[in-house]
Amino acid sequence: MSKNIVIIGGGIIGLSSAYYLQKEGHQVTVIDKSDITSGASFVNAGYITPSHIVPLASPGMIAKGIKMMFNSASPFYMKPRWDTEFFKWAWHFHKSSTHAKVDKAIPVIMDINLLSRELFSEIKASNDLGSFQLERKGLLMLYKTKNAYDHEKAVARKANDLGLEVSELDKKQLERIEPNVKINAEGAIHYECDWHTTPTQIMPKMLQYLKDVGVVVKINEEVLNIETNNAMVKKIITSKGSYLTDELVLAAGSWSGRIAKQLDLKLSLQGGKGYRINVKRNTGINMPAILMESKMAVTPMVGFTRFAGTMEFSGNNAFIRKERVEAIAAGAKRFYPDLEITQEEKESAKTGLRPVSPDGLPYIGKSSKFKNLTFATGHAMMGWSLGPATGKLVSEVIDEKKTSMDISAFNPNRKF
Ligand SMILES: Cc1cc2nc3c(=O)[nH]c(=O)nc-3n(C[C@H](O)[C@H](O)[C@H](O)COP(=O)(O)OP(=O)(O)OC[C@H]3O[C@@H](n4cnc5c(N)ncnc54)[C@H](O)[C@@H]3O)c2cc1C
Repeated sequence: MSKNIVIIGGGIIGLSSAYYLQKEGHQVTVIDKSDITSGASFVNAGYITPSHIVPLASPGMIAKGIKMMFNSASPFYMKPRWDTEFFKWAWHFHKSSTHAKVDKAIPVIMDINLLSRELFSEIKASNDLGSFQLERKGLLMLYKTKNAYDHEKAVARKANDLGLEVSELDKKQLERIEPNVKINAEGAIHYECDWHTTPTQIMPKMLQYLKDVGVVVKINEEVLNIETNNAMVKKIITSKGSYLTDELVLAAGSWSGRIAKQLDLKLSLQGGKGYRINVKRNTGINMPAILMESKMAVTPMVGFTRFAGTMEFSGNNAFIRKERVEAIAAGAKRFYPDLEITQEEKESAKTGLRPVSPDGLPYIGKSSKFKNLTFATGHAMMGWSLGPATGKLVSEVIDEKKTSMDISAFNPNRKF
């Protein structure tokens, strides 16, 4: 039966949900407070990453955060501030960072990543969005030190045991795979299972496709309030009007916790700010790479090379910390010594907020309090990869179909 469905948020998660819900015959409205040209879904590194099997909440992360806390140029930064929501979230993050919880999360993260990778491929084959970059070159983890190598080798072993394609490259092999740029690294672990894309190419194409097939997209319209009755969401009140709805999907990224609070629901989330610099000239870089000791990502996208990184917990804002931008440019030069990122390129840096749950797993599924409310958020560092899978799962949940995978680990009502 066709339903009237409102989706709050037009990032990759909201748009992917609209994509699959529309295909099931529903009348879908996406509402976004921005004009859908910026934020996490535009500034990300574009990786589709089955290799990212270890959640952010893993042993040692809090200690690292505390150590780096007072250095705002560091790649992992928690701004010291009095914020009880943040303290609660940090405590839950700490409790989730155990070996046992990480081991339980790894196969689930891999499964949803593989499902999503397959769906990216299906979307491409359908030609719904026309042509777009979806490259299967894999991802290099470039290292300089034995420490970094040992760390990644342990992850690679786990990935290999789970059936993911991983290999190792020494200096000579690196030169062969990346012949047009000088690299200062001892070698790389090559996750051949990973793919990459250009988000600023896919997002507008997806938006246009959705409009063409009848999805209503409301931009520059902020959801301010949600009216409920009898354990059901009834009406969405925005800055410009109101919408009656049969079903509501909450896909508002890092702002989802705030909206959930209006419904008296707890959704533990913090915005993890990341930065990107685009270099729109030939850098010679042909392979996506994570520069391990610089803790940053490099992606050859359509029309530019992107340098991205940082996980900064300093509240939901787009403020650009200049020292962080400088650190990203310097981090790139440590690995690509001939690459000089210009002042102009640094000045056009942008940020986005990753919606980070305390255990590194997304929230996908129905609210236990409101029967017609579905959550689709909390994807942290994997939201780009997991867009299509989340969209498909959301449509299956709303249509009460058997889901493509077991989603109990993503239960939005879970306690920490
Ligand atoms: C630097 C960086 C690099 C990254 N690299 C990768 C990567 O390589 N691979 C990967 O998988 N992931 C990556 N990520 C993570 C990924 O980008 C995010 O997880 C993902 O974009 C989140 O998508 P979203 O749709 O949930 O949120 P968003 O893209 O933030 O969208 C949420 C939308 O909700 C809207 N909204 C919020 N509140 C309201 C309201 N009240 N009313 C109306 N609208 C509202 C916002 O305007 C926004 O457009 C990276 C992130 C960053 C920052």
